Amino acid sequence: MSKKLSLTTKIFIALILGVITGLVLHPLKDNPFVSKYLLNFVFNLLGNGFVRAIRMVVVPLVLCSLVIGAAGIEDVTKLGRIGIKTLVFYLSTTAFAVILALVGGNIINPGKGVRIGDIAVSEVTVSETKPFVDILLEMIPINPAEAMATGNMLQIIVFAILVGISLSLLGDKASNIKKVFEEGNSLSLKLVEIIMIFAPFGVYGLIAKTFTTLGYVALLPLFKYFIGVVIILFIHCLVTYQGILVLFGKYNPIKFFKNFAPTMMVGFSTASSSACLPSSLKSMQETFGVSKAISSFTIPLGNTINMDGTAVMQGVATIFIAQIYGVDLTMGNYITIILTATLASIGTAGVPGVGVIMLGMVLVQVGLPLEGIGLVMGIDRFVDMFRTMINITGDAVCTLVIAKTEGEQLKEAI
Ligand code: ASP
Repeated sequence: MSKKLSLTTKIFIALILGVITGLVLHPLKDNPFVSKYLLNFVFNLLGNGFVRAIRMVVVPLVLCSLVIGAAGIEDVTKLGRIGIKTLVFYLSTTAFAVILALVGGNIINPGKGVRIGDIAVSEVTVSETKPFVDILLEMIPINPAEAMATGNMLQIIVFAILVGISLSLLGDKASNIKKVFEEGNSLSLKLVEIIMIFAPFGVYGLIAKTFTTLGYVALLPLFKYFIGVVIILFIHCLVTYQGILVLFGKYNPIKFFKNFAPTMMVGFSTASSSACLPSSLKSMQETFGVSKAISSFTIPLGNTINMDGTAVMQGVATIFIAQIYGVDLTMGNYITIILTATLASIGTAGVPGVGVIMLGMVLVQVGLPLEGIGLVMGIDRFVDMFRTMINITGDAVCTLVIAKTEGEQLKEAI
């Protein structure tokens, strides 16, 4: 047995310890020592200290990763029709995935019936219903510095995408600034890595606080959240993707799964889209017979910007968190979630656990408490395995559809 436990194992152990601590302390929750020193001091410090640290990195991470993501769009314009088709495919399937997650989340209601509103530290400030035109107008920042200072994610996203596109148009003339964003992105990811060292403590604090307050009734919502995400991921994979594959790719779904399963297993076991890149490319080119010209564009691009599984998790998690904090989401909130989660997918790096940090961006945008992240983080690795598998399957389906619509002869096509 190796001496060092992986971070995932540590977080999972922290979750179990947090649940046990909370269940033991629940009957004593009104005891002055428990409430003053444990709940409001120790658990609060650990849990909210961690949440504040995550919050610190959300804005720089989103800004840098999206600027770089958008700067890579130059390849899209170079590739003309194929580029546009791929981009439209990726963005629309992701938006659809979020809609599915929101509908499914409202049917499954993972957080209904359990209220931890009173232990939320940040005030819940979900905005009232706004006219759609205002939602659109307010996406355009009049002052990017203000958008960053107040953490207005949609405004930051719009600014980042425009900066990225401008950088790519400037080419060599702005290569230094581009480098600053690239290095800023590495820096932000390093910061995330450092903050994540403290994740077991943070998760312990947040979970212990929740379970001390609520007792065992808090187990059911977590379980429902997990099952809910997995079910919706499967629906997206089996219905949306296979429907598209049959309709536009003229490819038999059974054969698709038979041929792509090994790569899906790599995604499941590593929880990293990036780690699947070689296997995805090889499978597309050798097993499915897609040309290098198409697959060597669509697969790496999809790996970085197309994360339908992550978007599904973010949609369900947002509903889960809103419900347990007793917040009713408005239509305007739902539109905001669709927009933010779709764009968050562009900015999510294909490595384990980044999706749940990017969830912070969605929560901030709809005004939900970030502490919610701590609740889902304890089981996030398991969710990550399933969502990564769907992330890479989406890239493969897109590649086959593009190849087919470009008139390529696929192996084993219908
Ligand atoms: N692990 C995911 C991926 O690599 C990203 C995430 O959602 O955390 O695709």
